[in-house]
Amino acid sequence: MNLETIIRDVPDFPKKGIVFKDITTLLQDGEAFRLALNLMLKKYLDARIDKVLAIEARGFIFGGVLAYKLGCGFVPARKPGKLPFHCVREDYTLEYGSNSLEVHEDGIRRGEKVLIVDDLLATGGTALAAARLAEKLGGEVAGIEFLIELAFLHGREKLAGYKVNSLISY
Ligand code: AMP
Repeated sequence: MNLETIIRDVPDFPKKGIVFKDITTLLQDGEAFRLALNLMLKKYLDARIDKVLAIEARGFIFGGVLAYKLGCGFVPARKPGKLPFHCVREDYTLEYGSNSLEVHEDGIRRGEKVLIVDDLLATGGTALAAARLAEKLGGEVAGIEFLIELAFLHGREKLAGYKVNSLISY
């Protein structure tokens, strides 16, 4: 099965000039969704991950399953004002705009091995913010896992020094 061809391109969403990679066509195909998760999972089976830190909102779809399969905790990284308890915060720039991410201050403990998960690597700003949040709390980033990488945006360079994986590269 070719996962690349199952992702739908939606031109000019959410803004003119952006080609949005719509993953719902993969999610609604049970076989493709399962294959993608199994391919992500197998790299971390022996990595002794303590926490999956997943990025709102599409990262949650993959992160929750990976945490369950790895038998570890799940930590949501969310947009400001969504998490109810005390948070640590990082600001970052997106392919289309800027934003901030927050994580509960007790989500990760010092020395824990953290796997960061999101659906797509574009410029790398979002994932870098998530890595910094994990490190602010004393976590060690064991890997950053994406379904899709837009390689022409060179987000990987921003994440130099981290173990970065993607299943599909455009
Ligand atoms: P970045 O911080 O530039 O790496 O942007 C990554 C975040 O923005 C991810 O959470 C993606 O879901 C979203 N994103 C950025 N560009 C796209 C795109 N072309 N298609 C779909 N999602 C995107």
